[in-house]
Amino acid sequence: MESTERAVVRLTEAHTEHENGKAVERGPLLVELAESATAQGARGSGSGGAGIPINLGVIELQAHIGRKLKLMEKALFLRPVKDHVEATKAVWAYAKDERAGGRIDDAAWEQFEREFPDWVHRITEEVSPPASTEMIAPCPECGETRAIYRGDSVTAVVVKWYPEELDRAPIGKCRFCEAEWVGWGAMHYTLDVVDRGALAKLGIDVSVFAPKTLLP
Ligand SMILES: [Zn+2]
Repeated sequence: MESTERAVVRLTEAHTEHENGKAVERGPLLVELAESATAQGARGSGSGGAGIPINLGVIELQAHIGRKLKLMEKALFLRPVKDHVEATKAVWAYAKDERAGGRIDDAAWEQFEREFPDWVHRITEEVSPPASTEMIAPCPECGETRAIYRGDSVTAVVVKWYPEELDRAPIGKCRFCEAEWVGWGAMHYTLDVVDRGALAKLGIDVSVFAPKTLLP
């Protein structure tokens, strides 16, 4: 488990991370998150999807972080700061002071300790690894092709997968009925989203992930 201190550094400062044994210089994750919110179509929308102009998951995550910061600022009687990087630094520094002074109890402190690593996890999920593919075909579960998501009409089914880690299970989700599918087998046989040939070139045989009943 990553320490909260390290999580706050990753969120708010330029830092070095080790990815696949290589040292990689990265900006503050909160800044990367903000940048990817405006980088239109930089990621995902593979197979001729609906061409959603903004990254909804990123927007949602930014809103989540903003709400959490507000709650923590309120709990600590801090003046609200709009900038997420500055607000995070201020909240963590002040929370540590309050804890040292015995003014934050164990339960509340655990919440502070858990919060920042949770953001790191969510941001790295949202910003770097997964690509997402909007499905044009209807949801196999509810039959809907479109859903209203945060006021916009979008495809019902979206698939998230990890181009850098193909051994990691992709996840498909319907925004209309919230049905979920996990794994390449489900992507291929249930959602028909996998290009078998493309995966074969990467050394992945989707048939090994298929339910036994579907195998010839
Ligand atoms: Zn559905």
